Amino acid sequence: MISIHPPPQPTDLSDVRVANRAVVLRHVRLHAPCSRADIAAHTGLNKATVSSLVTELIERRLLRETGLTENRVGRPATMLVLDGEPYAGLGLQIGDDELVVVAADLGGNRLLTWRRAFPAPTVAPEETVHALAALTRRAVTRVTGQGRGVLGLTVGVPGLVGTDGLVPLAPALGWRDVPLAAELRRALREPGFPVGVDTDANLAVLAEQRHGAYAGTADLVHLTGGTALGAGTVSGGRLLRGGRGFAGEIGHVPLDPAGPVCACGRRGCLAALTGVDAVIRRVLPDAERDGPVTDYLPEVDRILTLAHAGDDTVLTGLAEVGRWLGHGVSILANLIDPQVVVVGGHLAALAPWLLPAARAELSARTLAPDACRLEASTLGSAATALGGATAALATVEAGRLPVG
Ligand SMILES: [Zn+2]
Repeated sequence: MISIHPPPQPTDLSDVRVANRAVVLRHVRLHAPCSRADIAAHTGLNKATVSSLVTELIERRLLRETGLTENRVGRPATMLVLDGEPYAGLGLQIGDDELVVVAADLGGNRLLTWRRAFPAPTVAPEETVHALAALTRRAVTRVTGQGRGVLGLTVGVPGLVGTDGLVPLAPALGWRDVPLAAELRRALREPGFPVGVDTDANLAVLAEQRHGAYAGTADLVHLTGGTALGAGTVSGGRLLRGGRGFAGEIGHVPLDPAGPVCACGRRGCLAALTGVDAVIRRVLPDAERDGPVTDYLPEVDRILTLAHAGDDTVLTGLAEVGRWLGHGVSILANLIDPQVVVVGGHLAALAPWLLPAARAELSARTLAPDACRLEASTLGSAATALGGATAALATVEAGRLPVG
């Protein structure tokens, strides 16, 4: 389990209760169905405390009872599972060519996933905020129409994210000093739920750690696979943010001094060699005949078709991109020693042709005897939005009761 926010520090009795509530919710999330006695036995909380907390959590519909145990010695016990049906978290994702919104409930069920084609890198930030607000309003209408309350909204951005939801720099979007959280709150006319902003990579690794094929892995990296290449890193079970929250910019590590110019203005960055736009340029030389590509999916589909057909130019190009990817991942492997690095976004679709060369390069450049695993994400291209919805539920998971 990783937390977006630092765990609450108990200072008085109500804080202790918040912390204990979080302990009970976490235990049920990881071990459901489980009984009150199981919770007491495994968390160290006494039975009376567990009983009182569970009663409160059932009243607030964060837990529900599912019936009795059958295969157990002694008195049958009532089993508990997460409920959370009356609540939803929302996550938004600003992609290279689309906006995505996901709503999820506390049990991790996706309530909706909506996409809207949108060329964020080519329009002013205000226009993107306007489109995000419109998408959010539709999602809120749907979710509240189902009788659910929205607990929060978190937006994932391909770039640096500072405090208070300010985006100081997002080269992939051409943004500088955009007060995203404040602008979005204003566009939503101060909604009754918190609006947060995080990097797309941090939210994607949160989704990966909770819902992906390697869920629960304590040392896990998710590499976003758009035009930007961010690393969301969980190290020792904690999200690695760095001193100012700017960690994870593996995409701007320079690998080739003679390489192509990157969106950041430097040359030969990992993103300039392995970003989806770079891959298209490398393997489909005709793709930019009519101007820069702004809609990536059709071009990725074309690459997939050619790769399946065994096209030599495409296979050679993808292997070359794979080697650069493995070189980049080896830097992560040598620095932070993850167990698994998961590649997401558009690159996940190309993984069967990228990863064999990437793994060979990774292995050759990693000092440790066994290189980390390098795999494709199974979460699809909405991982950041799913992570955003998950993050928006974090206050409840941290033991704060929903307002109202
Ligand atoms: Zn760069």
